[in-house]
Amino acid sequence: MPSAGASLHDLSFREMAETLEASGVNPQHAKALWKAIYRDGDRDLHVRSFSPPLKRWLDERLGDGREFHVDSPEVVDEIHSSDGLTRKFLLRLSDGQVIETVLMGYDGRHTVCVSTQAGCAMGCVFCATGQMGFVRHLRPGEIVAQVLHARRVLREIAPHRRLRNLVMMGMGEPLHNIDSVLKALDIISDVRGIGIGPSKIAISTVGVVPGIRRLADENSPYRLAVSLHGSTEEERAALVPASQKWSLAMLMEACRDYGERTGKRIFFEWTLIEGSNDSPETARRLADLLRGMDAHVNLIPLNPTAGYSGKTSASGHGFQRILREAGFPCTFRQRRGIDVAAGCGMLKAERRSKPAVVVPKA
Ligand code: SAH
Ligand code: SF4
Repeated sequence: MPSAGASLHDLSFREMAETLEASGVNPQHAKALWKAIYRDGDRDLHVRSFSPPLKRWLDERLGDGREFHVDSPEVVDEIHSSDGLTRKFLLRLSDGQVIETVLMGYDGRHTVCVSTQAGCAMGCVFCATGQMGFVRHLRPGEIVAQVLHARRVLREIAPHRRLRNLVMMGMGEPLHNIDSVLKALDIISDVRGIGIGPSKIAISTVGVVPGIRRLADENSPYRLAVSLHGSTEEERAALVPASQKWSLAMLMEACRDYGERTGKRIFFEWTLIEGSNDSPETARRLADLLRGMDAHVNLIPLNPTAGYSGKTSASGHGFQRILREAGFPCTFRQRRGIDVAAGCGMLKAERRSKPAVVVPKA
């Protein structure tokens, strides 16, 4: 049932204070409201005791058909990995769109992986989300609500653990929805509420050059991950159609500039595909491309998807060795969730083709 009105989750702290003030409520009350929503994670703000003016404001303005609502996506499916460390949620938004959020716990750290769009316009050939096409951008509140959901679950299953890390590696291209993404991150990193540290937040992009330049201009405090996948224009174009718009040359120039201006390391993501981008020559060319940069390479084994016939590479360790010998830290991305179809957009794709059978593994 679609809720009318604006979402309180779309407001920054300052906007929340201004909104209260505009209707005659002392803006100081924003602190209590913010704490209830983001620190305590209250879902029903009507049952909590607030100061009378704030309570009145909420009673008059919050709810179905009123001026404001809160984002509360419905859990359509929840799947646990067999090692118990990953939980994947399929969440239905108020207009019926379904997105994925993943809670991962390993090495004592808990990370939430959020979606930033329903579908994706970038069309990477191996990606289940790319194969679906673009549906719409998510609002800031719809991104924030994913984090609140993951934290709620974590509080239930491990009350003493904190959600400390966030990656934007779910469905969608964050820098294609950059305004909403940056606003959501502002809310998520606010220490009065959820308080995930900016250095524990990673934005992963397929290489939207204007977005990378904007992050450099704004000296954005978040980590940057760039999904490269190809060491020449041809190799990359075969996998990443967006490279027709932002060529490898433009992308690498923007990355170098970002590194020089921010002094920050860039994480390069590389989905390894048999016979496509996994040869020793490619590894050497990649090392040449990165020469002189503070770069870390993350190798991702390909997760097979229905719309792509490429195979998982068996040459990953040789590829890794070449990069390491060239002086770059190079690791395999931990894909703990692989047995819960944790590849980007994969659970949703699986549900679409077989609606009734997404069987939780024991
Ligand atoms: N749009 C952003 C973030 C979402 S995708 C981006 O492309 O970076 C997150 C990561 O998952 C990307 O590095 C992407 O290349 C990778 N990925 C997507 N589908 C995959 C698949 N089927 N197998 C392995 N990695 C995949
Ligand atoms: Fe979009 Fe990222 Fe998937 Fe490419 S890999 S289609 S950019 S979500």
